[in-house]
Amino acid sequence: MDKKELAGLVRPNILALCPYSTARDELTGAPEVFLDANESPYPNGWNRYPDPRQAALKKAVSALKGIPTENIFLGNGSDEAIDLIYRVFCEPGKDNAVAIVPSYGMYEVAAAINDVEFRKVPLGDDYSLPSGALLAACDSRTKAMFLCSPNNPTGNAFPREDILALVRAFKGIVVVDEAYIDFSSVGSLLPEIASNPNLVVLQTMSKARGMASLRVGMAFADPFTISLMSRVKYPYNISGAVQELALKALSSDIEGQVREIVTERARLVSALPSFRCIRKVHPSEANFLLVEVDDPDLLYDRLIADGIIVRNRNRVEGCRGCLRITVGTPEENDRLIQSLKDYEKSHIR
Ligand SMILES: *Cc1c(COP(=O)(O)O)cnc(C)c1O
Repeated sequence: MDKKELAGLVRPNILALCPYSTARDELTGAPEVFLDANESPYPNGWNRYPDPRQAALKKAVSALKGIPTENIFLGNGSDEAIDLIYRVFCEPGKDNAVAIVPSYGMYEVAAAINDVEFRKVPLGDDYSLPSGALLAACDSRTKAMFLCSPNNPTGNAFPREDILALVRAFKGIVVVDEAYIDFSSVGSLLPEIASNPNLVVLQTMSKARGMASLRVGMAFADPFTISLMSRVKYPYNISGAVQELALKALSSDIEGQVREIVTERARLVSALPSFRCIRKVHPSEANFLLVEVDDPDLLYDRLIADGIIVRNRNRVEGCRGCLRITVGTPEENDRLIQSLKDYEKSHIR
């Protein structure tokens, strides 16, 4: 897709939008007296409005990812970026989006909120990418396709070449959610945004980066898409406190933690199948395991009674019989294994 085709996907009202201009957007020079924004003049650490462009935090993300700042959007979690993609590209009541299922629930919720038809395409055997069915589900009003790799809740990552083939074949926005990419042996699609204007890669500070409470999501895309998302967002979508804390946290090295999680994932993958109640442990490139068990509701309750909460996916299309279990610290995973041992002892079949 070329840039002209990209512009043709945008809702006309968004193309024409004159965004709210904050006092600090118009700031030039280096003023010393701030009488422009009706703030309190009494310093308490938080009395000034934060940077609406998040320049310092974006610079740090840019250095970390090797991506220019003009290709970076920062939001109040990835969820803000997902919502903005609908609001920028999808005409309510007219346009539609296609997505794989099972996958992250927010794609569908955000579509419903924006009155955008959501077309679900089931994953193939062994949760493979249903490329042909995804393209077959598209029509002239399909503006966006949502993929997630590694996929939540199945845990598998799709081959990069298969995703890129979809990016080339589909004449709309392809969103690839890489929330779990730090745990994956399959490489990120970030280097591909430069040559594919319709590709949007989502990442987050909520998972491997350990900042779920701060709410910082990242979208990487063509500068035109980034500029449209930035115009539509609330001017101060990331608070000053969060910008400061995230910037500080970005300097810490998470490599050791990621390595430990991947090691613990392998330990659980080899330990879990020895339990009689466990039928299948799906392969995972993420920090969780999708596990098919004999009686998911019973095991779920039993784990809760032992103080362990997992995600019951038994009622999710394509995940019948499954629990999704996040990989914890070695001690937490030991507790899970002990609880499974106790369950099997008491649960004679
Ligand atoms: C956890 C998760 C996110 C993160 O969302 P935030 O709003 O950034 O916390 C995004 N996508 C998927 C698939 C996830 O599982």
